[in-house]
Amino acid sequence: MTTVIPFDSKVRAVKAAARQSLQPGEVCLLGAGPGDPDLMTIKGMRALQAADVVVYDRLANPELLDFTGQDCEKIYVGKRKDRHSLPQGQICDLLVALARCGKKVVRLKGGDPFIFGRGGEEIDVLEANNIPWQVIPGITAATGCAASTGIPLTHRDCAHALTFITAHRRDTGLTFNWELALQKDQTVVFYMGLSVVAEIAEGLIARGKSAATPIAVIANGTRQEQQVVVSTLAGIGKALASSDLPSPALIVMGEVVALRGQLQAVVEQIGAAV
Ligand code: SAH
Repeated sequence: MTTVIPFDSKVRAVKAAARQSLQPGEVCLLGAGPGDPDLMTIKGMRALQAADVVVYDRLANPELLDFTGQDCEKIYVGKRKDRHSLPQGQICDLLVALARCGKKVVRLKGGDPFIFGRGGEEIDVLEANNIPWQVIPGITAATGCAASTGIPLTHRDCAHALTFITAHRRDTGLTFNWELALQKDQTVVFYMGLSVVAEIAEGLIARGKSAATPIAVIANGTRQEQQVVVSTLAGIGKALASSDLPSPALIVMGEVVALRGQLQAVVEQIGAAV
């Protein structure tokens, strides 16, 4: 038999569960979203309110710390490619030490903790040390940037699949899977690729991808200072050389980039120039 619970009671139950969900000695990996602080979930906001200590890095918008309680300790651990303020191993040790002191720990991470966020590595260490943990998902840079630029990531006419690729690997240079990126009728999103956009574009063209394929690079997506450069694979290297985009930046490649009228015009303009 199915019991129907009135909506009001469900809402109350969810609120209560969220308040109680962060226990002393527990670590919560919390997705902060891509930049716009309003994009964090309500559950995430409640975890911040309950936290004794928040360990956060560069990609998480510091405005979110305003949701913490008065006595909450905030620890910045930086993180920039090749220039981590605190190495990953020490971040893990810190989480373990804080949890062992009986604190309610929030590890605030940019985007979603499980998408190129090292959430898995942190959980491995917590597990190995018998520390209870939970994950609250966040809006990843790809969906955040898609919304803020008006680029749909899938489309029934031209993008039946969506691939997220990191252009950066732990200890090697550009080692992503070219075959994967070359598949037809899909959208490819490259994370951590700003410094190698031209290299990626040239590599794809050399392996048979059309030079006219639309591509967008979005810097500081969803933030007020968002910047977007739209071009084709053939033109993106030159377009970026003159634009000096800052990080973090995301690369979106595929026909979906040209679906919006305004973006289409830029792609055509650049296509005609190359
Ligand atoms: N866990 C994060 C990704 C961390 S990897 C997520 O789910 O979004 C860091 C990379 O994410 C950056 O190099 C960049 O490619 C991308 N990124 C994160 N925030 C971004 C933003 N606001 N705008 C554009 N790209 C962003």
